[in-house]
Amino acid sequence: MPELIPVLSKDDIDKRISVIAHRISNDYKNDELVFIGVLKGSFIFLSDIVRCLTIPVRIDFVGISSYGSGIYSSGNIRLTKKIELNVRDKDLLIIEDIIDTGSTLSYLIDYLNSFDPKTVKVCVLLDKSERRDKKINVDYVCHKVKKGFFVGYGLDYNENYRNLQGIYCLKL
Ligand code: 5GP
Ligand code: MG
Repeated sequence: MPELIPVLSKDDIDKRISVIAHRISNDYKNDELVFIGVLKGSFIFLSDIVRCLTIPVRIDFVGISSYGSGIYSSGNIRLTKKIELNVRDKDLLIIEDIIDTGSTLSYLIDYLNSFDPKTVKVCVLLDKSERRDKKINVDYVCHKVKKGFFVGYGLDYNENYRNLQGIYCLKL
């Protein structure tokens, strides 16, 4: 059985989300904010942040696949679901579970820029720095980690563990 080492409790996450939601509400108070959630890993994170915002927000999702199964990215990035809203001249905030090498976000930023939005910024639950090879400006970060494979609170390992309330490091 893989071992799960606690990283952040639900309570820790709630506190960090309320700080980030406050910053976002302040930064976008005069803008037309659209959250772009990256499926599937960001679904819980996104739903918790939007409920703490004090400004209007629209919500859309993209599907991106790079991992297949297992803990290493295949490096082969595929769009599995397109956006549905018209985002031209809108202020987009990508909501992603975790940034590792940066390839997924780099691909996604290029994809979203093709719709002529006003701005595209990035909010991640976890910023994993060890394998970064693309320079990406991450505007909002809940928690920084160096290395490891993380599950829970939306993040999976072979589609398991998404429903855990906290975030854990998986030891295989
Ligand atoms: P990148 O393209 O930045 O290398 O990887 C980002 C994507 O890989 C994330 O969207 C996420 O789906 C997946 N990923 C990277 N690290 C982890 C991790 O520690 N745990 C989980 N569950 N997924 C990860
Ligand atoms: Mg992902």
